[in-house]
Amino acid sequence: MTTEERLQDVLSRIEAAERQASRAAQSVSLVAVSKTFDTEAIRPAILAGQRIFGENRVQESQGKWPALKAEFSDIELHLIGPLQSNKAGDAVALFDVIETVDREKIARALAEEMGKQGRKPRLYVQVNTGLEPQKAGISPKDTKAFVDFCRVELGLGIEGLMCIPPADENPGPHFALLAKLAAQCGLEKLSMGMSNDFETAIHFGATSVRVGSAIFGNR
Ligand SMILES: *Cc1c(COP(=O)(O)O)cnc(C)c1O
Repeated sequence: MTTEERLQDVLSRIEAAERQASRAAQSVSLVAVSKTFDTEAIRPAILAGQRIFGENRVQESQGKWPALKAEFSDIELHLIGPLQSNKAGDAVALFDVIETVDREKIARALAEEMGKQGRKPRLYVQVNTGLEPQKAGISPKDTKAFVDFCRVELGLGIEGLMCIPPADENPGPHFALLAKLAAQCGLEKLSMGMSNDFETAIHFGATSVRVGSAIFGNR
């Protein structure tokens, strides 16, 4: 299958999952995860109409997205990988949405850069729902306090929550937990679900799914 065909297939599956979950059509947006793929591999997806893309490294993104963003002015680029505070400035300059805010230091660095640059990417807080030591994200019990801190202390608008469930577990309970935490924080956006589990995530209320290999092929 071509990239266009795989993209269409994923979009049809999203639509079917929305219907099955009795959710409104187009209530779920697709973030096409293009990490490791070069400009020429990404271009067919853009030409097929896809506009929202996700990357997990700042430096890799700087090598390919400025040119594509200049060519297609309505691209929306999401950072979905861990962010170091020394890269906060670069991230604020390039990304439209940063999904991996997960600690005070990075929140402070982002707030400072947003002030300096006058650019305000939309922000999500990443939650480590599986409490995995090697994984980024704030713990579920600290999520509400951290969201409040970002809002009250730093004046950051937090749009939603994001999670990556443990690879070897049933993702459903993790998605349910993220939805519950978002409700406690008064947040409506949930970034959850990848190639292997996006339909499950839609069932549990995902408002965006991050799909890479099902569109671009194996990395
Ligand atoms: C790579 C990645 C994805 C996409 O994974 P696939 O299994 O290729 O769909 C989604 N979210 C994050 C945070 C990722 O790093």
